[in-house]
Amino acid sequence: MDRRSFLLKSGASLGLAFAMGVSSCSPGNNLYRGSSTSLGARRLPRVKLSPDRIIKETVGLRPYRLSGPRLDVEMLGQKTIVHNYGHGGSGFSLSWGTGQIAATRAAATGHQEIAVIGCGIVGLTTARLLQQMGKTVTIYAKEMFPKITSSMATGTWSPSHLLCEEEYITPEFKTMWEQACSYSFQTYQNLLGYGDLVTWMDHYIINGRAPSETPKLHIDGLLPEPKELSRREHPFKSKNVVNQPNMVFNIPSYLHHLTTDFLNFGGKVQIKEFKTLEDLDALWEDGVVNCTGLGAKALFNDEQLMPISGQLSFLIPQPEINYRLSTPHGYIIPRKDGLVLGGNAIRNNWNTTPNPEQTKTVIAAINEALVGMRS
Ligand SMILES: Cc1cc2nc3c(=O)[nH]c(=O)nc-3n(C[C@H](O)[C@H](O)[C@H](O)COP(=O)(O)OP(=O)(O)OC[C@H]3O[C@@H](n4cnc5c(N)ncnc54)[C@H](O)[C@@H]3O)c2cc1C
Repeated sequence: MDRRSFLLKSGASLGLAFAMGVSSCSPGNNLYRGSSTSLGARRLPRVKLSPDRIIKETVGLRPYRLSGPRLDVEMLGQKTIVHNYGHGGSGFSLSWGTGQIAATRAAATGHQEIAVIGCGIVGLTTARLLQQMGKTVTIYAKEMFPKITSSMATGTWSPSHLLCEEEYITPEFKTMWEQACSYSFQTYQNLLGYGDLVTWMDHYIINGRAPSETPKLHIDGLLPEPKELSRREHPFKSKNVVNQPNMVFNIPSYLHHLTTDFLNFGGKVQIKEFKTLEDLDALWEDGVVNCTGLGAKALFNDEQLMPISGQLSFLIPQPEINYRLSTPHGYIIPRKDGLVLGGNAIRNNWNTTPNPEQTKTVIAAINEALVGMRS
């Protein structure tokens, strides 16, 4: 389904969502795009790519769930638990959309005081949306930035990357995903201009592979179409270069912004670990939204949940770099807190120690793409 017909068809069901303060994504207000953005640049500032410029390395664990994010509602004694976890490699991209679904379900319980468990991107966006619905919200979390998975993400628009197994993409799942994806996308457009929380930039895909999306989950027209560039339209040595502009989220300032907004609107954060369901049951709030990411595996005994690890290396920031690059063996993305190198995904890997061989592989891949570049 293309975006225009999807939006027309789903306009009614999204009415509530848009009434909560996110403006309509009607075909007429598609202002953020211009076809010329698909063209490249003949010269680009040069990345200073060298191992001695690495300032930080992380290995984050994507909360991958075989059947995709869990959003159902269950009762635990007197408490209503709304789940919102298991976003794999798409948590930043889908957070506003699944947050909207979960917050609407939690608000429908009629409870005024809501506990959100988890202070990652999913918990923070859900908590803000509940506040916008007039609820009084406390976030309870074992850990916050910078120790959580959300602090170890690349931070790009990738709404179906490592999201679920294809066999679980039912028509109902697709409808949920389209609603979440569309709502999130529009929310991010409304965050443009808030300093550098969200930016659009050219994305050069060299020799044919960007981080993969799930082909069955796609809305036409959100991103500009990928454009194959002629030799005159890009500065790289490779002949096989595609440009598709995309969004980048500056994670530290973005998480800080959400936390500050949450506190400014009267929210409270309490550091607390829930080891058992009895711990949850002891909360005084009767409405609970579970945004514990991979933590839900132990807490709710969810056998569908597993980690998919991803290693990132951060180079000293270069504010002049205004493009991202993907190659078959690694990518580089400029953020305010560094040039982020990454590109691996290891299923069922709980090991969070950076592997020097992975660092070498990504540096070599990016170096190959940059050799002979016009700058
Ligand atoms: C290398 C890498 C690159 C990525 N790149 C992207 C990208 O480009 N775009 C994108 O959209 N997504 C990306 N992701 C995925 C994204 O980071 C995750 O989907 C997202 O961060 C999950 O957010 P979350 O809030 O569910 O989980 P988390 O950030 O893990 O937060 C969970 C919260 O729950 C708390 N918690 C857990 N268990 C308990 C408990 N028992 N008691 C109390 N509190 C608990 C934690 O302390 C934490 O506060 C990437 C991930 C990785 C690792």
